[in-house]
Amino acid sequence: MMKKDLRSMNLHDMEQLMQSFKQPTFRAKQLFDWIHNKAVTDFYEMTNLGNQLLERLVKETEISTLQFIKKQVSKDGTTKYLFTLKDNNYIECVLMPYRGTKSKQRNTLCVSSQVGCAMGCGFCATGQGGFKRNLTTGEIVSQIYTVNNNDQLRVGNVVFMGMGEPLLNFANVINSIRLLNDSHGQNISMRRITISTCGIVPKIIDLANLNLDIVLAISLHAPIDKLRSQIMPVNKQYPLNKLKEACLYYVEKTKRRVTFEYALVDNFNDNKKHAGQLAKFLEGIFCHVNLIPVNPIGQLSYKRPDKAKIYTFLKELSNHGIEASIREEKGADIDAACGQLRGKVVE
Ligand code: SAH
Ligand code: SF4
Repeated sequence: MMKKDLRSMNLHDMEQLMQSFKQPTFRAKQLFDWIHNKAVTDFYEMTNLGNQLLERLVKETEISTLQFIKKQVSKDGTTKYLFTLKDNNYIECVLMPYRGTKSKQRNTLCVSSQVGCAMGCGFCATGQGGFKRNLTTGEIVSQIYTVNNNDQLRVGNVVFMGMGEPLLNFANVINSIRLLNDSHGQNISMRRITISTCGIVPKIIDLANLNLDIVLAISLHAPIDKLRSQIMPVNKQYPLNKLKEACLYYVEKTKRRVTFEYALVDNFNDNKKHAGQLAKFLEGIFCHVNLIPVNPIGQLSYKRPDKAKIYTFLKELSNHGIEASIREEKGADIDAACGQLRGKVVE
């Protein structure tokens, strides 16, 4: 018999499980607290459930855990974790601690949603390795729980910017977000959760219809179809006019600002004309642009523009009334920056 993973279950699922075990309903709340708040991994730590229930849980359920393989710490404090899953696949996630003034201290975890990625973006290390499988809900939340437990901290912000395309693992990603948001679990505010997508148009519409208070980030990276299709194969299926329609719908439905990620690549998408084209594309969309100097990936020849070009691009956007900022580089020295996750042991 396949054991059911408790970390993939919400309160309702646990209530049904208790019913099937002929246990009182309040047991579900207790179990939820152990699994999603205290995040224990050993059944025998669950001291208030009674032996009879414990025995059944041990026999018929499991708690998905990630096997810690290694951790690398960047000089800026960014930490990359490599884990293995039960089927020996690898995933990575990245912790970005911000240590500003006390009120601003926060731990952001960049989590993976899939093993690998099928979308094949030209500049992304994850995309080069192909797609293996979706992560389960339990494997997604386990990334947060494991980092919390290992490093005795509390992740307060979650960004789906690790390996994989979150909107192609829609149900599990949404379930994990609802679990992380649950006030009896980690109680992470929806506003502190970001989904980043390469632009899966029908799924953006589905997400809009759920009307969650999360942040939606779109990986745009080029302002016209001709350029975008060169680096992002997804653009052939969902070109920019369709993507724009979906973004407009998203803003209309949720009243929330969309973030656009734009990786600046030297002599590809970084001149004044491109900035003008970008402003034109964004016209009418309530948004913010993050400019990310592209991170070097293995042998691929994507180069960062120099500082002067980056600031000229920013200035040009601002001249067109577009709000933008340059994203601070994190963890590039340990290959933990955007697009550098491979999910492999690299010595
Ligand atoms: N698949 C999703 C989320 C994971 S990628 C997506 O593409 O949005 C996280 C972010 O890193 C995306 O914005 C992606 O476009 C960006 N990225 C990938 N490779 C990069 C690179 N070499 N330099 C800078 N950003 C990169
Ligand atoms: Fe996949 Fe995102 Fe990388 Fe593109 S940028 S290959 S969608 S992980």
